Amino acid sequence: MKTRLYSPKYVKEIIEKYGFKFSKSLGQNFLIDGNIVRKIVEGAGISKDDYVLEIGPGIGTLTEELALSAKQVVSVELDESLLPVLDETLADYDNVEIVHGDILKVDIKKLIDEKLNGGPVKVVANLPYYVTTPILTQLLEDSQLFESITVMIQKEVADRMVAKHGNKTYGSLSVYVSFFSEPQIILKVPKTVFMPQPKVDSSVMKLDIKKELPDVDRDKLFKIVKAAFSKRRKTVLNALSTYGFDLDKEDIRKDLILADIKPESRAEELSLEDFINISKILPPLNI
Ligand code: SAM
Repeated sequence: MKTRLYSPKYVKEIIEKYGFKFSKSLGQNFLIDGNIVRKIVEGAGISKDDYVLEIGPGIGTLTEELALSAKQVVSVELDESLLPVLDETLADYDNVEIVHGDILKVDIKKLIDEKLNGGPVKVVANLPYYVTTPILTQLLEDSQLFESITVMIQKEVADRMVAKHGNKTYGSLSVYVSFFSEPQIILKVPKTVFMPQPKVDSSVMKLDIKKELPDVDRDKLFKIVKAAFSKRRKTVLNALSTYGFDLDKEDIRKDLILADIKPESRAEELSLEDFINISKILPPLNI
């Protein structure tokens, strides 16, 4: 049987052959556990009808499993030195295309139109941890291009993203994620399944994208959420009235009551729906 890419022995051999040096600054921690690789692809619900966008293939370990399960895979890799490696490791798969580029700069809509049947596609990735939040916020801004986003990220960040109101890890990131998706953690992953081992534990998070987004001024909503969480210990009334929106405190109090929110609540007690209600009732913001 052909050696699969997740074999630690094979990973060592291939990186030696190409003189590859792991880059900490590019978040290069490669998977070396077949079980985890399979569970990620299973958890993402990938089947032979699916078009998949992967971010950061590394030497192609997760990409290979995706190629075996999906119809078509496009994988965007920033590190040029991995391109010849991927040419060799994925040579047997004719349903995979590697695109050299920075996912934060690639025109994802164009890429999906040209190479992935127009979408919506499923995203699957073991993300580079140094840019997890920028990548996810960017993908979510264009959420309708995606059916789901399944990503391995740092455990603490995943906990914050999926937290519900009333939980101490709930914050502006949780509200942002829940605006666009139904998030869940599908797998906890120890440090030991990576080469080299990172300092932190990881979780695989699946975001099922909402087909219809709430009808609200998003920019205003997210400004209010940011303001409310900017001073977590203050009441939502105090946080909003001291943030620089230039709104009268008594007017905010009345608007909060109209939105069915107790002015003395704290941001972490408010659900996405509460923030949407506040955003619909407050007058236009000056910043
Ligand atoms: N998927 C592989 C695996 O699971 O073994 C590698 C995952 S490793 C955590 C992250 C990968 O993302 C690396 O290959 C790294 O070079 C790549 N990468 C880092 N920043 C990137 C960016 N801005 N755009 C695309 N790829 C990036």
